[in-house]
Amino acid sequence: MKIIFIGTGSGKTSLKRNHSSIALIKAGGVHLIDCGDGVSRALLSAKISPLDIDSILISHFHADHAAGLPSLVTQMKLQHRTKKLKIFTYKHHVEFVALMLECALLFQSNLGFDLEIVPFENNCAISLGNGMSVLPRKNSHISEKYGETKFSNNQFYSASFLIQIENSNLYYSADIGNVEDLKIFCDFSCDTAILETTHVNTDDLNKFIESGKFKRVFLTHIGDETEIELQKWIAKIRAEYSASIQLAYDGFEIEII
Ligand SMILES: [Zn+2]
Ligand SMILES: [Zn+2]
Repeated sequence: MKIIFIGTGSGKTSLKRNHSSIALIKAGGVHLIDCGDGVSRALLSAKISPLDIDSILISHFHADHAAGLPSLVTQMKLQHRTKKLKIFTYKHHVEFVALMLECALLFQSNLGFDLEIVPFENNCAISLGNGMSVLPRKNSHISEKYGETKFSNNQFYSASFLIQIENSNLYYSADIGNVEDLKIFCDFSCDTAILETTHVNTDDLNKFIESGKFKRVFLTHIGDETEIELQKWIAKIRAEYSASIQLAYDGFEIEII
């Protein structure tokens, strides 16, 4: 399986990096995890056609992870897509996704292809076919709800993902709330980790990477203001780990198995 980083930026819009999205590509199947603001243009840069995308998984609904969804579905319609699209979202967000698309004037009756919004449950694996599945687990990223009381906790669900391919596991942290969230898949052994860098400091990342048994760590969700600091940190710690550690960038490709 190949992973292409489509967007490796943080929540702040940047000229250097797109907002969050990665593509999992295996045996001709293309699956996006997250589709942040501007993802359609980012996919053009990465040379991935909207027609080839089989499914989109959404970790949470901060705009840098999900706001590109209506524009991406619009591109599919404009390019006369015919194959079915699945959008996987937490079960309590299904109605919101449907409304989001309808408010963008995207209706099943005028799309030209089947679009299924598939609910996922916390800690229940999602099959993507071709021997690949994704396990979502709730993290604490927006659990404090900004003090809002009129919305239910379900509205604030945010997931990290364990991507399972045959006998190999890949940890994708999405956005976390604190360092404890990094450990939510510690009951699995993972060769590869893709970790965000906005909501965790380098000391905590250091301790986590040190305690894990990763062979490769890729850092993402990188703000322009923290990139140089992260590069210096990696240069300093690289010699201490057997794992290879590097900053991801838009268009960067890795092979998993
Ligand atoms: Zn984010
Ligand atoms: Zn977020």
